[in-house]
Amino acid sequence: MSREIFLSQNNYLNGLKCLKYAWHYKHCRNAMPAYPEATERVFNYGHMIGAKARELYPDGILACDADRPFGEQLAYCRELLKKRLPLFECGLIFNNAYAQSDILVPVGDNRWEFIEVKSGRGIAEINYHDVAFQRYVYVNAGLDIVRCHIMHVTPGSEAGYGCNPKDIFTMENVTDSLAEYSMIVEARVKEIRDVLAMGEAPVIPPGRQCSSPYRCKMYDICNALTNEG
Ligand code: SF4
Repeated sequence: MSREIFLSQNNYLNGLKCLKYAWHYKHCRNAMPAYPEATERVFNYGHMIGAKARELYPDGILACDADRPFGEQLAYCRELLKKRLPLFECGLIFNNAYAQSDILVPVGDNRWEFIEVKSGRGIAEINYHDVAFQRYVYVNAGLDIVRCHIMHVTPGSEAGYGCNPKDIFTMENVTDSLAEYSMIVEARVKEIRDVLAMGEAPVIPPGRQCSSPYRCKMYDICNALTNEG
């Protein structure tokens, strides 16, 4: 049996957004246009919020190191699990599908819960898909996941570099809301992999997905093609 095409969390979420975007991200990411400056600022804010969330777990360990070869990274994360400490960005793989949760927290002797950190002030539907995919990979990779959470910025709070992280987050247990998202993970994984295995990008007409939740990198290209047509 041939090996399944590698599918990261980003590949999965990209595929849910737009299969054409997912294909380009997988095969020619470096040739894609850069995000506009305003979008980059949103991403930088998200990184700051992620760092603030980690401050809530002072004994946590950052598991991910972008300079470490991928195989070694997977082995390192497996080793870290034995420490039974909070882990940030602990990457696990199942059937060549890869997930890396923001914060993985030990529960009791051998169980875990994980937290997806969001810089928004509420939960968007794509966040449930994200958590469902992470749980799918983690559970199939052998972790006993008892709870899944989304931690977002509390509306009205002042989240900034100097803030106290204890003042800005709301944590919501979404475990019981995942059923409808979890039940489609396998089918969507297969669908996205089938597209990623194609020799060229699928034809997808521009639509709402191009500007929501943020403007796609390919927006000008796809819309120019449509206008030419
Ligand atoms: S601009 Fe729209 S159609 Fe084109 S890749 Fe992005 S989301 Fe897909």
